[in-house]
Formats: sequence, C-alpha cells, structure tokens
Amino acid sequence: MVQVELIKEDIVRDEDIKELQEEIRKLAKEKNAVILAHYYQRPEVQDIADFVGDSLELSRKASQTDADIIVFCGVRFMCETAKIVNPTKKVLHPNPESGCPMADMISAKDVLRLREEHPDAEVVAYVNTNAEVKAVSDVCVTSANAVKIVQKLDSKKIIFIPDQALGNWVKRHVPDKEFIIWQGFCPPHFEFTAREVMKLKERYPDAKVAVHPECHPKVIEIADFVGSTSQIINYATTCEAQRVIVITEVGLRHTLMKKNPNKEYIFPESMNYCGTVYCCTMKGITLPKVYQTLKEEINEVTLPEDIIERAKRPIVRMLELS
Ligand code: SF4
Repeated sequence: MVQVELIKEDIVRDEDIKELQEEIRKLAKEKNAVILAHYYQRPEVQDIADFVGDSLELSRKASQTDADIIVFCGVRFMCETAKIVNPTKKVLHPNPESGCPMADMISAKDVLRLREEHPDAEVVAYVNTNAEVKAVSDVCVTSANAVKIVQKLDSKKIIFIPDQALGNWVKRHVPDKEFIIWQGFCPPHFEFTAREVMKLKERYPDAKVAVHPECHPKVIEIADFVGSTSQIINYATTCEAQRVIVITEVGLRHTLMKKNPNKEYIFPESMNYCGTVYCCTMKGITLPKVYQTLKEEINEVTLPEDIIERAKRPIVRMLELS
C-alpha cells in the first residue's frame, strides 16, 4: 500500500518514485489494465507504461488491446481516440485538465462552415483534434502518415485542419492538390524560432538537425530531417552524426537515450513557452495522478454514442490507408 503522503504530493521525491511505480504496475496487473504513454510524457511515467509511442502507434495499440481498462497517459484527444477505437473498454485519463491547445483551436462548427464554403473538398483532420471535430471530418492523419494519406485521396481539394505547419508541409509534398489550411498551431513547436536553431548549429557545427513538422516553416527549411516523433527516433539514433539537435518536445530525450545512449541529443533550452520545447499539458500527467486514477477508477473518458460512431470512420480510414 502506498503511503498517503506520496499521492498527496503531485510531484514525487526521487527516492519515492520506484515505490509508486511498483504500486502502479501491481494495480495494473490486478485490474487487467494496460498503460499507454506518449513519448512526450514525463520519464517516470513512460517507465510504467506497457507501451510508449506516438499518436498513430498508440491508436493502434488502443484498438487492439484486450485489457479491461486503458490508462492513457497523454492529452485528452488521445484518450478520446482510444475510446472511439475501442468503445467497450474503460478508458481512464489521469488528468482530465490535460487538453491540447492546438486541438482547441478549431470546433465542429468551424469545420461545417468550411464544408459549406468548399463542398468539393475532403476534410483531412490531424489526429490532434477533439472527437466532435473528427466526427465531421473525412479522414484523420498523423504527422507520420499525413503526406502518404493525402496523396492517396481522390479529391483534388483538401481542407487541412487544424495545424498550419503540418498542412503546409503536406502541401509542399502534394503539389497537385489545392489546400485550404486552418491557421491552428502547436505553441511549443511553432513558437520555436529559426534563429534559435541557427544558434545551436553554430555551437554544434557537427550536429544534424531533426525537426517535427509542427515546427514553423522557417525552422523546417533549415532541418536535415523532418519527421514525426517515431521517425525522428529512427533518424536520430541511426544517422551517422554523433550529435543530433532535436527540435521537438523534450520528453523524447528519454526514449532516444534508451534506444541509443552512445549519442548526444541536444534539445533547445531557450526561453519560449515554459522555458523550452516543453508541452505543459503533456506534463500534467504525474505518477500520483496515474496511481489515484487507476486505484479509484476515476476520470473515465465518456463520449456520446453518435460521436463515437461518426468519429470512428475517419480514424478507421486512416488506419486502413496507412
Ligand atoms: S505538443 Fe503541441 S500538439 Fe502535442 S499536445 Fe502539446 S500542444 Fe498539443
């Protein structure tokens, strides 16, 4: 049994982390629960997960699991996606306050208006959207498969929501289609400047630069590699360079170090958004919150049945097309 003081403190002392992790794993076993965590989660949270991955990998895992409970350590839209692809499971979100600012930049009403204005276009929704928005979209994409999926669509006109950076990245790779791009953005990625990257390049001239497509186009322009978190992991841990400057959420360092500790991964430390490329809402999931959520089976993710049904179509289409 975990000491009460441990879970009252939201941030755990280093010496108590192991005890809490063991208790969480024990509970997960007793309750036949699977713990899924995004790469941007705190290292100590990633370490208790059955599976750590990006949005696409986590959706797949959520759809395939035969556990009774899914504890999803990520932001709200990810938990909703897990519920949509596997609605009979109990999906628990350790911090219901952890939403995604970018997902909140567009509503279903906005999408319906765009549809009216462009009736010949298909709506391509980045998976970083809320369930109501997915329910009025034609297909979902992640940063790992967006280009490939848009290339496969018959429609010549694409409404891309909500991320302008990913939308512009896809547009560049699919020049034969017309794009209407929503002007949403991911604050931690988009606000990071090309000037900061240039400073890092000057400091580490031998390093390669790997960048997430949610970054500003000017940052993307000077990158050696652009890809999703999984693609960055692959590139950074296997490329010839001994040092890699990684422009994405700092949580990825944990996986990079586990996969290949012999390299140096340089993450920016400039003073934008929370002090670095750091997603405050992702970091809102803590070990005490995971413990309490699983123990008491609280913070269950629920969605209206019709939303589940309609939002499932674009997700299933994505899983089939990718
Ligand atoms: S990193 Fe960006 S897109 Fe991902 S959850 Fe945070 S704000 Fe949303």
